Amino acid sequence: MKKHNFYAGPSILSEYTINNTIEAVKDFAGTGLSILEISHRSKEFSAVIEEAAAMVKELLEVPEGYHVLFLGGGASLQFCMVPYNLLKNKAAYLDTGTWANKAIKEAKLFGDVDVVASSKEANYTFIPKDYVIPADADYFHITTNNTIYGTELRTDLDSPVPMVADMSSDIFSRPVDVSKYDLIYAGAQKNLAPAGVTLVIVKESAVGHVDRVIPTMLDYRTHISKGSMFNTPPVLPIYSALQTLKWYKEMGGVKKLEELDKAKAAALYDAIDSSKMFVGTTVAEDRSIMNVCFVMKPEYKELEKDFIDFASTKGIVGIKGHRSVGGFRASLYNAMPMSSVQVLIDAMKEFENNH
Ligand SMILES: *Cc1c(COP(=O)(O)O)cnc(C)c1O
Repeated sequence: MKKHNFYAGPSILSEYTINNTIEAVKDFAGTGLSILEISHRSKEFSAVIEEAAAMVKELLEVPEGYHVLFLGGGASLQFCMVPYNLLKNKAAYLDTGTWANKAIKEAKLFGDVDVVASSKEANYTFIPKDYVIPADADYFHITTNNTIYGTELRTDLDSPVPMVADMSSDIFSRPVDVSKYDLIYAGAQKNLAPAGVTLVIVKESAVGHVDRVIPTMLDYRTHISKGSMFNTPPVLPIYSALQTLKWYKEMGGVKKLEELDKAKAAALYDAIDSSKMFVGTTVAEDRSIMNVCFVMKPEYKELEKDFIDFASTKGIVGIKGHRSVGGFRASLYNAMPMSSVQVLIDAMKEFENNH
């Protein structure tokens, strides 16, 4: 049976990415060797990492003065690398969920952290709007998409200080004004590649201003100067990332992807809003187009598990909500086709009619 993959991460990748990765595992770039067994310093792999960086720059229209890096350690390592490299005295953070919180915890190891606003008391069902970003902060850190709670910041804010953004779960789902950011990072396993690589876009002039000693591997300057090749980079995820980026370009770029993503999310939110059984968990204006979170209304609550079982008979997988929200979460990343979203919507309607 065809599976419809709604997992939040690792998550669906395009067939193009998966098929080309399989080919490269068997025979990479006509070398007669697997990509798994070839030097990362070979000319064939150097071409891959260079092209991947160039394609990130092209798709996101990254201005001059920025470097695109492919690092290990996941987005979680960026929670500490960012303040290690950029926090001199004080940084401002917006607390919009579990991941934002983890970033805040690490930043506190390096200096003062001003949490300008938090929606924690409301179980992160919205993105705070009224707050002041201190003009003396070294940077303002945001999490653009809150993967667990299903809220999203889809605009580039105006900030008196440069921004740093965790875009792990919505990068390449809209055009971004990169010039507003000192640094953008994204773990690959939501919208780019298999787990194991983290995309970092860093402004060259933002690094090198802290007094503390930074271990070599945690210093962005190391990776900038070596083009992400100081040590062995995660070659296979980088190869897959390049395939995804090529596919994104073929699809029409991030503007087109945004259009498709919005249409998918609108169809599912419409189904939720017009249902007597299901209800969304976040305020409408902050709804994520990547992770759609919803639950059953109190009078149907005990049917939640039954719906997951019913959906699985239709090939729908990965819709169980995160334990901190419960219910359901349907992740509609770029590689998710509208036809799969329609299968989910039909399953919701059928289940509702049966009860
Ligand atoms: C998944 C996720 C992370 C964690 O990424 P790792 O690569 O597992 O460290 C961080 N931030 C956001 C927004 C995420 O969705």
